[in-house]
Amino acid sequence: MTRSMRRILGRLNKRGHSLGIIFCLLMSVLIGGALWLADNNEYSRGLSEVALIVQATVLGVLYLSTRLRDYHFERHLEELRGRKEKVKALNARLRNLVNAATQVAVITTDSRGRTLLFSAGAEKLFGFSREEMLGHEPAPILHVQEENIGGDRTPDNPPHQPSTDKTLSGGEGCITTERTYRRKDGSHFIGELRCAQIIDASSGQVEHINVIIDVSERLALLSKINEAKAFLKLLTQRIPNVLYQYHLREEGESYFSYCSPSLEHVFELKPEEVVGIRFKQNPLFQRVHEEDLALIYAATRESVETGKPWACDFRVHLPEKGTRWLRGESYAEKQADETLVWYGSFIDITELKDREAALRVQAITDELTGIYNRRFFMGSLEHHVDLAKRYGSSFSLIMLDLDHFKSINDRWGHEGGDRVLKETCRLVGQRLRSSDVFCRIGGEELAILCPSTQADQAANLAESLRQALANHVIPPVGQVTASFGVACWQRELDVQTLLRQADEATYSAKQEGRNRVRMAVR
Ligand code: GH3
Ligand code: MG
Ligand code: MG
Repeated sequence: MTRSMRRILGRLNKRGHSLGIIFCLLMSVLIGGALWLADNNEYSRGLSEVALIVQATVLGVLYLSTRLRDYHFERHLEELRGRKEKVKALNARLRNLVNAATQVAVITTDSRGRTLLFSAGAEKLFGFSREEMLGHEPAPILHVQEENIGGDRTPDNPPHQPSTDKTLSGGEGCITTERTYRRKDGSHFIGELRCAQIIDASSGQVEHINVIIDVSERLALLSKINEAKAFLKLLTQRIPNVLYQYHLREEGESYFSYCSPSLEHVFELKPEEVVGIRFKQNPLFQRVHEEDLALIYAATRESVETGKPWACDFRVHLPEKGTRWLRGESYAEKQADETLVWYGSFIDITELKDREAALRVQAITDELTGIYNRRFFMGSLEHHVDLAKRYGSSFSLIMLDLDHFKSINDRWGHEGGDRVLKETCRLVGQRLRSSDVFCRIGGEELAILCPSTQADQAANLAESLRQALANHVIPPVGQVTASFGVACWQRELDVQTLLRQADEATYSAKQEGRNRVRMAVR
């Protein structure tokens, strides 16, 4: 039966009852009137009897109809009681559900902003009991900023919703904001408030559901992450090293997944030109010196095979700065999928390399004359003896000692003596082959190693040097001379014996009057 039909029947039922009662009253008046007017009249008595029967029937129908109405009313009442119980159970379940969520606070407020519900989570979060909060406005008690509390309670500005706090997002009928809350013990925390407005269908009044989550820890963590990010950014921008992350998936399938901004300084390339580009197409590797690419391959292979750190010094050709030395160092880390990732850095070490080279030269150079020093001479002599022993080749050794150098010093001072030493080395040096090794082995003692040179050739060289020196004028000292001793390496001769032979030959030259060449006695 449809709703409208039921409504019509109900109305008819009500109207039927009223009509039935009116009819019965009329009948009673009619019967009474008939009995009073026509005393002992047969016709009137018959009419009264009929009227009585009709009245009794109508009363009977009225009685039955009333009973039926009572029955339907009872049933309706039962149904309503059942529904009320269901609603109560549903409410209880909802309340339990709200209270079970102890990590969040749920507060509902009525149209006047007074607390209707204060969940167990709210009790836990704020420290206030339900009894303390029910019926009170939550904002003045829980909000820290007084100016945001109370006031306008229109649906657009609900009592618990702060109007000046940072609004995070707005969903359909739900506004999310972040604000500072106060606990019962006076401590504060930052909470994320989600406020939704509901309108009671029967009363039309506006209520609010507020869900508050403590986000202090999350925000603190977020702030720490942001701080760390900022620090890392600063670090990668300030330090001269290029920091990088390099992936090797398989042969040829390798690429940088990160390069710090210093790449522009070190490789003259922007990170976006390099990151994600495969090895063969990567402009970074195209800048590596062709001779040093092999070094990079070898270091990579070793690191892949052993898992040890990758380290390599290599040269690059840069459009602006030209050739530079770089040092790469990185640590390999095997991933779950067996691929490798290196975390490392590149740094420009050109200055370091230059200094190293200068130090190496310094370590083998005589400071005053600029020729090799005794340390280099000894190493070179041993090397030549080794070569001669292995390949049977020969070499000669010429020693020379300036004559009466002490008296030069005495007469012209130490500076005069230094000048003679320098000029002698320049003069001798310019007459030697590039393969000859010219060294200062003592104060005014010099030595020349002549590779692939026989004794007579060495003697001729020594003689020409002697003459050149003797004929040369070194101002202000004038002409200086030197005594020469020549020794040639013989089979099985060791370094010390060869040195002694050359020394003895020089001594002989001195003994025999100086300014002459003497050959070593075998
Ligand atoms: P001889 O002809 O026998 O070799 O006599 P000499 O005077 O050359 O030899 P001696 O060994 O007596 O003297 C060498 C001198 O060389 C002594 C030393 O003061 C000087 N001498 C050594 N090293 C240097 C130096 O670097 N500069 C200068 N000016 N003199 C030096
Ligand atoms: Mg000497
Ligand atoms: Mg001397």
